[in-house]
Amino acid sequence: MTEQKNIMQHCFVCSKDLPQSNTKSFNPRTNLPVCEDCKGTEAEKKAEKEAWDSLGEGFVCGCI
Ligand SMILES: [Zn+2]
Repeated sequence: MTEQKNIMQHCFVCSKDLPQSNTKSFNPRTNLPVCEDCKGTEAEKKAEKEAWDSLGEGFVCGCI
């Protein structure tokens, strides 16, 4: 069903390959790598939400 291809080697927002050697930035909420282009953008927030929607079973909290 879900294709789990090396997600740690791609930006989770734009799916761009991330160089192994460079220091990666990680989204603190999803723990997924994000490239410099996407870091801090609206696209990142959107992808973050989508990641939560797919990962979020059991983690859903109505608080805040
Ligand atoms: Zn990106």
